[in-house]
Amino acid sequence: MKYIAEFRDGELARGLAKTIAATVNPTREYRLMEFCGGHTHAISRYGLQDLLPANVRLIHGPGCPVCVLPIGRIDSAIALATQHDVILCTYADTLRVPASGGLSLLKAKAQGADIRMVYSSADALRIAQDNPSRAVVFFAIGFETTTPPTAAIILQAQRLQLANFSVLCNHVLTPAAMVHIMESQQDPAAVAIDGFVGPAHVSTVIGSGQYEGFVARYQRPVVIAGFEPLDVMQAILMLIQQINTGRAEVENEFTRAVRRDGNRKAQGLCEQVFELRDRFDWRGLGEVPLSALKIRPEFAQFDAELRYQVGYAQVPDHKACECAAILRGHKRPADCKVFGTVCTPDHPLGACMVSSEGACAAHYTYGRFRGGG
Ligand code: SF4
Repeated sequence: MKYIAEFRDGELARGLAKTIAATVNPTREYRLMEFCGGHTHAISRYGLQDLLPANVRLIHGPGCPVCVLPIGRIDSAIALATQHDVILCTYADTLRVPASGGLSLLKAKAQGADIRMVYSSADALRIAQDNPSRAVVFFAIGFETTTPPTAAIILQAQRLQLANFSVLCNHVLTPAAMVHIMESQQDPAAVAIDGFVGPAHVSTVIGSGQYEGFVARYQRPVVIAGFEPLDVMQAILMLIQQINTGRAEVENEFTRAVRRDGNRKAQGLCEQVFELRDRFDWRGLGEVPLSALKIRPEFAQFDAELRYQVGYAQVPDHKACECAAILRGHKRPADCKVFGTVCTPDHPLGACMVSSEGACAAHYTYGRFRGGG
């Protein structure tokens, strides 16, 4: 298929691996963070770390949407579904994220709460239209990729004058999380990062220009890459070339989809509907200033947080779970003592084992841990 098969060609991948091996400086290490869960998944699925020289280390970042959602936010959604007689709609992976008291949205559903899995935000709006006598809440999560569709349904709900529809907004922002990671580099547990593989889909929305300030401030190169294996290999080569020559620039490997200005229409929708939160609690990163969105006061009638007075309380992860350290890039999935034993994709103990983009789930599914990764 055009745009997929040619980016998975094994012979080209081996050629790129040879070029990378010939380009690295054997006297130094290259520690490259792939921010996005889509890249983490591709790296595990195609065994990309195994194609790289030993001194090129890939570090998983916090770019898996369900992984960074803290337990307290899931608890709030469960409370909303069980105490307010609403139909709560959300994406499949969100249903399985462990919450407090051994619960999850899926278990709350099994206990009688009306919680429904949707494929898109538009599905949730349709459920509200089909059930005019019931209150319907869309539990919205994700980075800049899923934010414009949430903005679009809020605007559509306003046009339709849908009084029974609202959104519990948990959308978060990539650049703020990258800044937080660089600001945490003083942490003694932190692995020094030499460069970033920038996200694919997020960058189609926000544009490559959004990373320019970050690169200038922290002097770390960012190469935006697509999600296919050759995209990631090419981005790694481009990062190594920048590091070797002492450059720190934003480069765009994913030119078939990403522009410097991004998608202006999608950005406009988001600006119309959302504004910045002062701070937001991320799983793993803790409270990060200006890192998430809330619904503007003009759309308060569609804001479930206001409508139902949804509270939030910080809840620590399970004692055995290392998700926080993995999301900060300090540890690898196999460093967790319960990885692949107590915690598996069928019985996840932590959020990183739920989604296919989660580092633990990706490592487990493709068996990379058996090679020591
Ligand atoms: S293996 Fe499970 S418990 Fe351990 S860090 Fe990963 S998600 Fe958390």
